Amino acid sequence: MEKESILIVEDEVNVIQFMQLELEHEGYEVTTAKDGEEAMARFQEKEWSVILLDWMLPKLDGLEVCRRIRKTSQVPIIILTARDYVGDKILGLDRGADDYITKPFEIEELLARIRAVLRRARAGEKEEDKIVVENLEVNLKSRRVIREGNEIELTQREFDLLVFLMKHEGEALSREWLLSAVWGYDFVGETNVVDVYIRYLRNKLDRDYEPTLIHTVRGIGYILRSS
Ligand code: CA
Repeated sequence: MEKESILIVEDEVNVIQFMQLELEHEGYEVTTAKDGEEAMARFQEKEWSVILLDWMLPKLDGLEVCRRIRKTSQVPIIILTARDYVGDKILGLDRGADDYITKPFEIEELLARIRAVLRRARAGEKEEDKIVVENLEVNLKSRRVIREGNEIELTQREFDLLVFLMKHEGEALSREWLLSAVWGYDFVGETNVVDVYIRYLRNKLDRDYEPTLIHTVRGIGYILRSS
């Protein structure tokens, strides 16, 4: 089994050393960052199993880092802090943190919390959170679209249309059906909006990649299928 990877973001060197030693001893793969900007850079590098995030950090504070990570990722985040006010805890959880631990803490408590968020993350990681067709991958939770490793920015409507096409991979879908499923309209005659959005998707998803996934079905509408 692949090792769970943990990113520790903490500016106090002795705290980093202590946690890194203990976590590596437990079999985790550990990487560290010493400020908020470095944390964002490390975050982009790979999919982490858990991020341990100190609140008081140079450059960007932990809450801001948490808020930015949550724009694109549901990675479990545990906030580490010397603060111990209920209001602060709520603020941290509001920014999307999964859990919260007050320094100083016993390593056993931290390990238990890491195991708990990993367990919850695995339980929530159902098959249907991710749809893959060929080299196109869509994460329904984070709403990220990746083709050949490149992240593709879609508008909300483009995303919804793509997800519908992918869920019906291999099925010819009429314009009327797409219109009612994605736009919620069920009147006939306004289906050219579907063609317009299919064109947007093709430009973003198919033009620069192989194989072509979105195909026209003459007289009907469209189909998304692998080669
Ligand atoms: Ca700190």
